[in-house]
Amino acid sequence: MDPVCCDIFVKWHYTGCVPNDDPWALCQLYILADQNENLALRRAILTQIVNVNFAPDLNDSNTAAVVSSLPENSALTRYLLDRTSYHQRAETIQIHTDMPVEFVETLKELIKKPRHWLDDCPCCDKPCNYHEHNTVEDWKLSCAESGPYPMPEPAYLRAEI
Ligand SMILES: [Zn+2]
Ligand SMILES: [Zn+2]
Repeated sequence: MDPVCCDIFVKWHYTGCVPNDDPWALCQLYILADQNENLALRRAILTQIVNVNFAPDLNDSNTAAVVSSLPENSALTRYLLDRTSYHQRAETIQIHTDMPVEFVETLKELIKKPRHWLDDCPCCDKPCNYHEHNTVEDWKLSCAESGPYPMPEPAYLRAEI
């Protein structure tokens, strides 16, 4: 673990929250949390990523490296897909050549769908969409009381996938 990630991890360990840090460091730590099956840490990181409105540059080799290190169905990957497809005009999206093919294919499908651009996005202010809640009951137990976060949309409940 690099020193920045280590520092974030220690803060999370003692406070239950990750600091508002460089999103790239958060993404690196997320990869470790994914490998270690640390759901609580993944949730804390995604809460912060959503709070800072992290807007990934898909034409950056760092983004491609993060996506390549995660399973296709990871919550962070889904956030990156949503944040791009809802907030960026299709014709302006540029994708790094190292980006995994499946990610590019999924993104192409998403941007085909007509949407009310910027309205009703699943990403902003809705971290629970990326908390891997299995059911509404799980959300009630883990997030409903502790934060002002809206309930995850049905398509984001893992039990529905
Ligand atoms: Zn959004
Ligand atoms: Zn939640």
